[in-house]
Amino acid sequence: MKAYGPDKIHNVGIFGHGGSGKTTLVEALVYTTKGATRLGRVEDGTTISDYDADEQKRRMSVNLSVVPVEWKENKITLIDVPGFADYASEVAATMRVIDGAVIVVDAAAGIEVGTELVWQAARRAGVPCLIYVNKLDRDNADFDRVVAQAREVLDSAVIPMQIPVGTQRDFKGIVSLRKERAWLHGAKHDGSFTEADIPAEMAATAAEQHEALIDKIAVTNDTLIEKYLEEGVGALTPAELRLGLRAGIASNTIVPVFVGSALVLSGMAQLLDGMLDSFPSPARKTQPATDLLTEKALELKPEPGEPLAAIVFKTMADPFVGKLSYVRVFSGQLHSNSSVYNARTRKDERIGQLYFVRGKEQTATHVVGPGDICVLTKLAETTSSDTLCSHDRPLVLRGVEYPRPAFTGTVRPHSKSDLDKMGTALHRIVEEDPALQISRDPATGETLLAGLGESHLHSIADRMKRKFDVSIDIDLPRVPYRETIRGRSEALYRHKKQTGGAGQFAEVVLRVEPLEPDPAREDPLEFEWKIVGGVINKSFMSAVEKGVRAAMHDGLLSSNPVVDVRVAVIDGKEHPVDSKEIAFVTAGAQAFKQAALKAQPMLMEPIYELEISVPDQFTGDIMSDLNPRRGRIMGVQPEDGRTVITAHVPLAECQRYASDLRSLTQGRGSFGMHFARYDDVPAHLAEEIRERYKVDHSRDM
Ligand code: GDP
Repeated sequence: MKAYGPDKIHNVGIFGHGGSGKTTLVEALVYTTKGATRLGRVEDGTTISDYDADEQKRRMSVNLSVVPVEWKENKITLIDVPGFADYASEVAATMRVIDGAVIVVDAAAGIEVGTELVWQAARRAGVPCLIYVNKLDRDNADFDRVVAQAREVLDSAVIPMQIPVGTQRDFKGIVSLRKERAWLHGAKHDGSFTEADIPAEMAATAAEQHEALIDKIAVTNDTLIEKYLEEGVGALTPAELRLGLRAGIASNTIVPVFVGSALVLSGMAQLLDGMLDSFPSPARKTQPATDLLTEKALELKPEPGEPLAAIVFKTMADPFVGKLSYVRVFSGQLHSNSSVYNARTRKDERIGQLYFVRGKEQTATHVVGPGDICVLTKLAETTSSDTLCSHDRPLVLRGVEYPRPAFTGTVRPHSKSDLDKMGTALHRIVEEDPALQISRDPATGETLLAGLGESHLHSIADRMKRKFDVSIDIDLPRVPYRETIRGRSEALYRHKKQTGGAGQFAEVVLRVEPLEPDPAREDPLEFEWKIVGGVINKSFMSAVEKGVRAAMHDGLLSSNPVVDVRVAVIDGKEHPVDSKEIAFVTAGAQAFKQAALKAQPMLMEPIYELEISVPDQFTGDIMSDLNPRRGRIMGVQPEDGRTVITAHVPLAECQRYASDLRSLTQGRGSFGMHFARYDDVPAHLAEEIRERYKVDHSRDM
């Protein structure tokens, strides 16, 4: 493929609910542009997009796939993005680097959950969209119903640019409402078509819809509307219509609908034309960045002479080549065998060969300019969302906004050998999917994995098995309860042991009191040594502190750690022979327990802030469901036909919220959660928790 300047490049994401026909569409577009002589089929595992052995086996895309095509002296780089909720990070990454989104809708199934999710993601990212209604040849296909539904569920700005000629088994081709012409495909289904007048029986409908479309385009621009009002519907030239259309799409006042069938190759050339007409090319857009030296904001022009600014939007672990980094250049040029500067790590990275990709195929190249997408291999420390720039002109671009984790599970390896391999495998999986986060449960030492939902983590467990042969289970983690005290108290404990030879003796008097909770405090204990007159030698101080810390770790009411306490050791006794360190550890621990148990011990639970976004009609259900979860509603905010509810909910009541929300809203709700604070556990629940996490007193003496 020859080199293209930014004015001839269009990066277009292909999104939609799983099964709507994205992969088939990409295949059909490649075939239409003569990029392939043979049409691959999802059923045969021969498509360009689904190249992973795994994807072919499951007949489902699990990774985004980059497939450039050449059309009318332009390069359109298609990015085929998997359609299920579990791949929301692929969607977010793609939205960051494209100029427009094609949202594929199945003409029979209509607007589905996945359609709505990608629609919202595109709106959030400010990416212009067109809707492509696919599968017009299918039984039950109903174009008008889909358009009505899209208007209602997605946006009232939805308007057909094309309408189908015939439908289902009688589907014959498409009418362009803008050009007022028909394109009819032949019986061979090889992509060939004939141009014709609009069939007579459709003329009235077509004329009516043509006018509706021109109305909408005309209002995007003052000059157009004036001309239209003065001279009528036919006055606007094709160039003026194209201009108005693009402006309307960019400002969200027009969401154009295209139609066809990827399977019978109908409407493909017109859809490609539609992409060129609808989406702005990178050449028209500057990119905001921050200069790392001056911290000043700047706008980068998409020109080869500008400073280099590129973003890594996808990292893939390839079993043969190693790490692949997908990069989109915004300004300047990337050169092979050179060095770039990573704005996050603040280090230089060597880059070797550059590659253009088409599905799994790679073609080496020496230079990649603004607007273009390429792959770098074996970058040492660079990960997704990083900015690559030049050492002399360090700057940073806005990163990818990945979806927030909504579910945390405990990772349980099946065997010792799975445990040994787990760390490396998890690390590589997280590199591929930044919606995942690994952490460690400080109480149990177990590995925690946070992701988008239970099904997301289960699919990760499957991938670990297939890709790295590591078997793991994902369980619900234990809730990290804590304990504290609300009062002040003192206790004396004397530890005395006389067993034959050397004895043990220690006496400790200490005072406990609560500390104000402070999220910034790292140490749960403030320890003070207030011994006067040397009644206990200072060399035993650390032994007493060790005992107190051990007792705090074990818990008072339940086996959960005690936090936010001040302990002052105020008195005690020692014995010249029998006082040993171990004796003071025991005395410190016991004195603490006795004092703290008298100081209104309290069980606390973590409270999380949930931000739940649902279509308006679910708001009532969501709010009443929060009640039995002991949730406190902090805010209710309308947002584009949806409602965003912010609530504080105890973690114990929302560990499975990802799946619960899915069933409450038929998958149309989304949410994120993050830790807010600790709160007292209500008395009627504390008993049950104490029972479940009984303190092990076997260590007591
Ligand atoms: P994706 O999950 O969105 O990538 O969808 P696929 O491209 O894998 O297609 C899902 C199924 O729909 C496959 O069996 C395709 O053959 C079928 N399909 C795709 N496009 C069409 C179409 O235009 N008409 C019909 N009848 N079937 C289609």
